[in-house]
Amino acid sequence: MQHSSIHWFRKGLRLHDNPALLAAATDCCCLHPLFILNPSSSQAGTNAQRFLLDALQDLDGSLQKIGSRVLALNEGKAPLTYKRLQSLLATLGPPEKPAPALTQEHLQGCHTPCQASHDTDYGVPNLEELGQDPTNVGPHLYPGGETAALTRLDALMERTAWVCSFQKPRTAPTSLSPSTTVLSPYLKFGCLSVRTFWWRLDQVYQGQQEHSQPPTSLHGQLLWREFFYTAGASIPNFDRMVGNPVCLQVDWDNNPQHLHAWREGQTGYPFIDAIMTQLRTEGWIHHLARHAVACFLTRGDLWVSWEEGLKVFEELLLDADWSLNAGNWLWLSGSAFFHQYFRVYSPVAFGKKTDRDGAYIRKYVPILKDFPAEYIYEPWKAPQAVQERAGCLVGTHYPQPIVEHGVASKRNLGRMKVAHARKGNKSPMRHQAHFTSSCHLSCLSLPQAPSESHWLVPQWPNHKGKSPRPRGSEPHKDVQAVVSYGSCTTCPVLTHFAQPPCINPFPSPSLRLATWLLPPPQKSTPTPSTCPKKVCHPPT
Ligand code: FAD
Repeated sequence: MQHSSIHWFRKGLRLHDNPALLAAATDCCCLHPLFILNPSSSQAGTNAQRFLLDALQDLDGSLQKIGSRVLALNEGKAPLTYKRLQSLLATLGPPEKPAPALTQEHLQGCHTPCQASHDTDYGVPNLEELGQDPTNVGPHLYPGGETAALTRLDALMERTAWVCSFQKPRTAPTSLSPSTTVLSPYLKFGCLSVRTFWWRLDQVYQGQQEHSQPPTSLHGQLLWREFFYTAGASIPNFDRMVGNPVCLQVDWDNNPQHLHAWREGQTGYPFIDAIMTQLRTEGWIHHLARHAVACFLTRGDLWVSWEEGLKVFEELLLDADWSLNAGNWLWLSGSAFFHQYFRVYSPVAFGKKTDRDGAYIRKYVPILKDFPAEYIYEPWKAPQAVQERAGCLVGTHYPQPIVEHGVASKRNLGRMKVAHARKGNKSPMRHQAHFTSSCHLSCLSLPQAPSESHWLVPQWPNHKGKSPRPRGSEPHKDVQAVVSYGSCTTCPVLTHFAQPPCINPFPSPSLRLATWLLPPPQKSTPTPSTCPKKVCHPPT
């Protein structure tokens, strides 16, 4: 059977007399020759490091002559800007085509053992059986599952003009039916393959004279997903402030009352409260609505830590996805990626841009539905008589604003300046993210790595932060992933290292990347003497 091979060069930086390399390439449809640079923990001086780099250049040159390349990996550093991601992707070529769907034909001669008591013993439970109150759920707008995902995708892809002209900033947070795809819950649960989505978009783009481009196009949105997955997999403590090397350290307030009011849609700002109500009841809100409430909770108004907002989103969003949630909260709170912290969303003016009359507020905060448009975003400014006519007295039926936006945002701007000043000239972006997982080689032989398609593009960041995975290499398609261990001269193909299980630091599908971003070799990395077949020679 043809297989893909990973040949890990450690010593043995040569083509001649290298049986492990030879064996890795034999019957192989896709060869990944790796070298892992580990400068931070290397004891070697400059001269020795130069010698090593010479050797790698030479090896790369020799491999190029025969149609291959060295992949020099450096502790899994991720691109920290969208532009950088784009230039890496340009070197990778398009993502893999989706694998064909499983059909009855595949299952011929194969059965799943099922007993008569299957439904009782192993059937999918209902909400009550999970200890949830079924009366607590909101409208069933987005039913889960692959069937719903593919139906939704089909319907969207019929709208050629909409797909081709899609520009995210032109979509509205206030529209009463979604102005973006709402495929995020399906992508999060993997009911929809991201590669399927990508290639269906590609089909729609084909044959059209013009279509929008990343970062604002739908392809561009999927690349944002890649961006945050990659960052989440390689930046330690990505979902918290302390210990996160790209995160601005800020003295956020501990204010449970403000946090509670924000979560419950009781801030006294109708636009913010409408968004939080939509989130609580329906489980999905538009991206720019997420911007508005995230900014309001953090640097804009309430000065509550983004980590608290992340937890609320984690609970309430249908699409809550660890890397995407953390990455976007870092962004919106001005803690990482985005540094124009002086640009703050107004909880009054922002919604008005796309909904002057306040239809969105009337829908989600119905107590305000009879306010005239003039006051719908600021009901506390309405004269008493207007409030009485609307049947809602501010301070009695609907809260007064919990902060004065003008005052709070000005004060917070000052506090952001202090946080930046404390950091001095060291921009968070200049920190290098290091991969600190203790996941090691066993991850590579890994049945789990290639099996799912959470990833559009498997990443192979190298020592320059580039990811030049060679065209045609197809880790997702591996029939059998084989690791050949470069120091082992007579036992080149080891697939069963007896090792402790790989520790997964990522409580989300970003594990997929953890398995593709190579960590530096760990102490527990098997040496030839641990070769289970006991036939390896010492390293050359
Ligand atoms: P579309 O505009 O139709 O985009 C298509 C797909 O592209 C999305 O389904 C999503 O997979 C991806 N995408 C779009 N925007 C982004 C983005 N900014 N970052 C990463 N991927 C993106 N998205 C999540 O899926 N899960 C989260 O937990 C999540 N948390 C967020 C938290 C905050 C504070 C913010 C500001 C944004 C968050 N997002 C999250 C990103 C974004 O808001 C949603 O992906 C998007 O609104 C989903 O709606 P859609 O499917 O209609 O998106």
